[in-house]
Amino acid sequence: MNEVLGVLQALAELDHALHHLSGRLSDLDQEEAALKERLRQEDEGMARRREAHRKLRQAALDRTAEADATDAKIREYQRKLDHEIISYKEMEFLREQVKLLRARLDQLSEEALRLMDAVEEDAQRLAEDEQRHKERRARLLEELQALGKKREELQQARAELEARRGEALGRLPPPVRQRYEQLRARLPNPVVYVDGQACSGCHLRLSEATLLKLREGREVVTCENCSRFLLLRW
Ligand SMILES: [Zn+2]
Repeated sequence: MNEVLGVLQALAELDHALHHLSGRLSDLDQEEAALKERLRQEDEGMARRREAHRKLRQAALDRTAEADATDAKIREYQRKLDHEIISYKEMEFLREQVKLLRARLDQLSEEALRLMDAVEEDAQRLAEDEQRHKERRARLLEELQALGKKREELQQARAELEARRGEALGRLPPPVRQRYEQLRARLPNPVVYVDGQACSGCHLRLSEATLLKLREGREVVTCENCSRFLLLRW
């Protein structure tokens, strides 16, 4: 085999490896996007969980404040009843109000207590949820980190392959190199093997003359249909 054919064969293998690497890198990109989405959902879920707890706590505080305000009102009315000189009509009214407000206060206190219990219970559950969230988050971050490391490895491998490819290209005679680069600009595989009697790039049957030239192995042969460089399997 002449030297140019040998270099073309090396280029074909390097291109193939590079193509494979690009595929793996784009798989990694997809995996990374999926992981980031899971992380986002994880954080969003936890934020919703915290917000639900905050609302429950706020409801308990509101009910307590309402009970306190009702209690203050009762005291105020009672003070008027006990210490102020007021009309009978007003006295009747205030007594009725105090009765109503006491019933309301009982109800509010009960609700406030029930809500406080619920807040305490939920705070415990929230702490457990926080712990689980932290663990899931750490796992996702670990996976992302491993992915980043894998990407670095693949990128390094790609840089090495590209360097070797550059070297191989440098060993081609300029017209062949130019042709190769033109093909490479539009095809992932400018150098292909002959498959039976067909070009494995475009899958069309090659002429007898082309096959003969290939078998002689003295010159660089290209597919008459797609212009890819052709190689015979040895
Ligand atoms: Zn072809």
